[in-house]
Amino acid sequence: MEVAIVGGGIGGLTLALTLHRRGIAARVYEAAPEIKAIGVGVNILPHGARILAELGLEDDLARVAVTTKEAAFFNRFGQLIYREPLGRYAGYATPQFSIHRGDLHLVLLEHARRAIGADRIHTGWRCVGVSSDETGASARFVNPVNGDPLPEQHADVVIACDGIHSAVRRQFYPHEGAPRYSGVNMWRGVTRMQPILSGASMVRAGWLSHGKMVIYPIRDHIDEAGNQLMNWVAEIETPKYEERDWNRRGKLEDFIHAFEDWHFDWLDVPEMMRKAEAILEFPMVDQEPLERWTFGRVTLLGDAAHPMVPRGSNGAGQAILDAHALADLLAGVADPAEALQKYEALRLPATAEVVRTNRRNPPDAIVREVVERTGDKPFANIDDVISKEELQEFLDRYKRVAGYDRETLAAAAQRV
Ligand SMILES: Cc1cc2nc3c(=O)[nH]c(=O)nc-3n(C[C@H](O)[C@H](O)[C@H](O)COP(=O)(O)OP(=O)(O)OC[C@H]3O[C@@H](n4cnc5c(N)ncnc54)[C@H](O)[C@@H]3O)c2cc1C
Repeated sequence: MEVAIVGGGIGGLTLALTLHRRGIAARVYEAAPEIKAIGVGVNILPHGARILAELGLEDDLARVAVTTKEAAFFNRFGQLIYREPLGRYAGYATPQFSIHRGDLHLVLLEHARRAIGADRIHTGWRCVGVSSDETGASARFVNPVNGDPLPEQHADVVIACDGIHSAVRRQFYPHEGAPRYSGVNMWRGVTRMQPILSGASMVRAGWLSHGKMVIYPIRDHIDEAGNQLMNWVAEIETPKYEERDWNRRGKLEDFIHAFEDWHFDWLDVPEMMRKAEAILEFPMVDQEPLERWTFGRVTLLGDAAHPMVPRGSNGAGQAILDAHALADLLAGVADPAEALQKYEALRLPATAEVVRTNRRNPPDAIVREVVERTGDKPFANIDDVISKEELQEFLDRYKRVAGYDRETLAAAAQRV
């Protein structure tokens, strides 16, 4: 069995590793001429971390990431609503990592090169189409720099891990249209600064109508002064948005006004923004869940299959879960086409539920709840607004939907 993987991002490289672990050969075809450390922060929750740990990546990730200690939710006046421990600090067998996407990507690349061989990871191959019959599947490619065609590649199955702009998804759904704008624009930045709160806290503060912040460190001890690289995202309801491009530069003056008075005793938000090294702008988008991902011996994985708004830290994690499930099925089911059908039956409904819950009730919606109950005013005592049990149940419900509640993970650990 040989698998052709289209796209060498987070999902594609994880798939190369999970297949290798199951004794299945893979080749990766990535459009970018070179794999570079691009992006800003992502979180790997315990479900994704469990799979990466099984693949032997935990130590390397721990070296470059911040092992997240807690989630902390605040209103826009800087008042604490709730905090809960995360990952190992919450009793999970695996940690939560807050990590620079580029660092995660490079750790995956390094391990994939060692596992399957650097000569099986091809860069500068842009997929322009796929086909499949009873005996195998093929992918057509061009050189992304000059558009010249490259030799067609054949394999037993082709897995499209080509991200939110997936060419393969577009081939199967030519009339789907552009990703669906959620009405919220994001400005993402990184700032070198001293640790805040526990030194490894994932902060969500304020609500989208007035401006919401997500803040967490992604690199520790980056200099002699003990600074961290702090990742932050400003999210504001905005009627219009510009084209989706992960590398589009953002302008401070477009959003800082919403946060000018956010001077808290635990953080000066406008100061953090003004000291940013780089600001990127990206609209919060997703797509309506699809009816099917599998077409003969071709299927979709990760963002190509289920782009979701980044409000539950699950984009990378669900791609990792897809890769794990698909490798197990390809190893365990004799007919590859049947394995792809079973993968779709297992992962499509599960991820569709995450896509929908991220729209309606992701973890940060507990801040919305408090804003609504207080009329967006400061509170005297949070216990008079909402009980701890209610807050905890809200967060636990999301964990069950996304598959990282403790019971699900304990059961998964027993199946290995
Ligand atoms: C440059 C970049 C920066 C990102 N930055 C962030 C970030 O800061 N924070 C965050 O939360 N998420 C970020 N993401 C998205 C995040 O990586 C994904 O949401 C998530 O990890 C799911 O992984 P994926 O493998 O499905 O998609 P991705 O990680 O996006 O990988 C898709 C890969 O497919 C390649 N590709 C695209 N089209 C083709 C084609 N036609 N042929 C061959 N290869 C193709 C892309 O170059 C990319 O390497 C970024 C993605 C990219 C590509």
